[in-house]
Amino acid sequence: MQNDILSSLTRLSDAELVTRITGLVTRERDATAQLVAHLAEFDTRDVYLRDGYGSLHAYCCDALGLSDGEAYNRIEVARAARRFPLILDMLAAGTVTMTAVRLLAPRLTAANHREVLDSAHSRKKGEIEAIVARLSPRPDVQTSVRKLPTSMLDAVAPAGPTAPISLALDLATSDPPAASRCIVATAEAPPAPRAAVMPLSPDRYKLTLTIGGDTLEKLRLAKDMLGHAIPSGDDAAVLDRALTVLLTDLARKKFADTPKPRPTQGNETTRGNKTRTRHIPAAVQRVVWVRDLGRCAFIGATGHRCNQRRFVEFHHLDPAALGGEASVDTIELRCRRHNDYEGRLYFGKRRLDGVKACARRVSCAMRDAGARREACARRRPRTAGNPSSSRARSGTSSPASRPTRAGPEN
Ligand SMILES: [Zn+2]
Repeated sequence: MQNDILSSLTRLSDAELVTRITGLVTRERDATAQLVAHLAEFDTRDVYLRDGYGSLHAYCCDALGLSDGEAYNRIEVARAARRFPLILDMLAAGTVTMTAVRLLAPRLTAANHREVLDSAHSRKKGEIEAIVARLSPRPDVQTSVRKLPTSMLDAVAPAGPTAPISLALDLATSDPPAASRCIVATAEAPPAPRAAVMPLSPDRYKLTLTIGGDTLEKLRLAKDMLGHAIPSGDDAAVLDRALTVLLTDLARKKFADTPKPRPTQGNETTRGNKTRTRHIPAAVQRVVWVRDLGRCAFIGATGHRCNQRRFVEFHHLDPAALGGEASVDTIELRCRRHNDYEGRLYFGKRRLDGVKACARRVSCAMRDAGARREACARRRPRTAGNPSSSRARSGTSSPASRPTRAGPEN
């Protein structure tokens, strides 16, 4: 059956496929809201107790086959929906997600629930956690460095020369949590576990990561050497300095100026009498990289920006192959897939335009040829009085009236 569905879907156009998916998502949201409403009512009855389940959660998992997480989310949201029925409408409309409601539910009050739920519209989990941190600010955690228990060492760094250390820091940053997570992951890259970032309050995050003994010694040495600049020895301030130096160094290496950029194969294109290069000056690369925040700047038809960070490339808005210049205004960042997508769109369109232009040229040539034949036929009886005149007047063609011969007369 699934094979039948898949084979039937291959016949759909892109627009039809989008319409179908949009409709299915709408139905799924509606079904979710209905399920939550029914669970909210079910929660007030003793049915699950009567049926031998110790809790609604156990009933959802064992009788309904939901996973732990699915059951937990739905029950928490159902209980919130009993307090604020508006949640059901928002779930059906897709303006809030189950995860968002579950995270926000403990902070919702009769006074704030409408505003808070509205602020959660289209937010990702990290952004919802930031809203929670704003509603219930928590104090900064104390910076702590502690040695992990022996049982955890094997799992964290079996081949490490020194014992891993758990380090918890407070960070203040204007970046969203996702950005902080990315920077930490890039700088540290431990095998496991990954650094954890938890919003504490607006612009404050708790970062927990595991480091090796060598890294700890570097941190201590950096604190000693920054004794005058950072007398408090604040680890978060030291880390911020370290990352600033690192990013500056990476940007310098990544987009270094060179007086004679080395040409690579396919790096030049000839158009007319001019040879153009695909090279993008380092100064342009640096400005574009910072302006686009190192993320794909492709914006879809709905206004959504891609923002992909991985495998980002410089993209010529005017293709270099057609002589496009490389300037800050004509270069943008693209992820690999969007770069490829736009290339196919542009050159596919050009090929199509080429076919249409060719068809137009043929059509014009045929129309002109017909006009010339008629003009030639009209003139010939008066000027030549040749035997073909009667055929010309009657509208039949003759070899003498071919457009190639009539051309010079026009
Ligand atoms: Zn992209």
